[in-house]
Amino acid sequence: MGTGAPLTLLALSPAETAAAFERLGARPFHARIARAQVFEHGLLDYARMSALPLSLRERLTAELPILSGTELDAREAADGTRKLLLRFEGTRSVEVETVHIRSSTPGRAATLCVSSQAGCPVGCPFCASGLLGLARNLEAHEILEQYVRGRALGPLARSVVMGMGEPLLNFERLARALDVVHDEMGLGARAITVSTVGFPDRLRRIAPTRPRFQLAISLHSPDQSQRDELVPAMRGVPIAEIVAAADDWFEQTGREVTYEYALLGECNDSPEHAERLARLLARHRATINLIPWNPVAAPKASPWKRPSAAAVERFRAALTERGLVATVRWSKGVQADAACGQLRLRHASGSGKPD
Ligand code: SAH
Ligand code: SF4
Repeated sequence: MGTGAPLTLLALSPAETAAAFERLGARPFHARIARAQVFEHGLLDYARMSALPLSLRERLTAELPILSGTELDAREAADGTRKLLLRFEGTRSVEVETVHIRSSTPGRAATLCVSSQAGCPVGCPFCASGLLGLARNLEAHEILEQYVRGRALGPLARSVVMGMGEPLLNFERLARALDVVHDEMGLGARAITVSTVGFPDRLRRIAPTRPRFQLAISLHSPDQSQRDELVPAMRGVPIAEIVAAADDWFEQTGREVTYEYALLGECNDSPEHAERLARLLARHRATINLIPWNPVAAPKASPWKRPSAAAVERFRAALTERGLVATVRWSKGVQADAACGQLRLRHASGSGKPD
């Protein structure tokens, strides 16, 4: 447990949990049962853990809270997407979003979209999190809390770290949380995707650790000057270096990288952009995920446009004709502000306090 971490189950390692349970007069196997109930079954209340003695459940409820955050808002879109707005106190009170995306196949488990930071320091001008800036990094247990609250809504098949924040700027804490998700929640490396703007030096440092997730890199433009504008914190980092770091990632980890491309109407969605993107990525192992821009409820008038369905299809076809694998991700739950970062932006502008 780090200094200043709250005494909650989620802030403890398995060994620390066993020690805390022993202090309460329980046995180590009770600790294992409680953790399995939380991580595997999404039980967030000791009272419902009937495999534990009643007196222990009461002591745990009084002495060792499971979670540290509070749920400020939960809304469901017509397509079943559920979006949670959570508040964490810590060194600074922050609001964070988690989205539980139901599979379009009935009966199939969901995908959970989690945040790695409260806000984001990268400043992409088309993104709700970028518009708010960084409030603070999330602790490992706060990232984990999003997972267990998501699991409480229903079984998870996959998880994407595509909520608020830039994962590589809070990587140590994220990795600690993902280890628990992997080991105790049972989501395999192929079921977890981390999306980043792709700091090449950080990717090269992480690759040899053989991280247990899939990598997605947000590219957004084949042109250096345009990418510098769309991803301000990466200004001056050559696109070619990012692609080279992605190639090294593939060599070191054996896992293919996905490139993400937010399609902004009349900005980076022209046939010429598609052609230059295809030229950039030809002869590299890559899949391209096109994300038509989701309107952001920005406090100021937004200069961005959602591309037309025809422009999106033209762009995708231009890439596949040139031999690349390209898919389109139309965001779900747009009605419930489920595009990442937007619920919090609305709360912040509504209250006039960008925390
Ligand atoms: N910070 C990480 C994860 C963020 S979200 C990153 O940028 O990669 C995942 C993807 O959604 C990123 O590619 C991001 O650029 C994109 N995105 C953010 N806001 C968007 C919006 N309003 N519409 C469409 N895509 C958006
Ligand atoms: Fe941050 Fe990603 Fe949004 Fe850019 S797109 S501001 S990196 S969350």
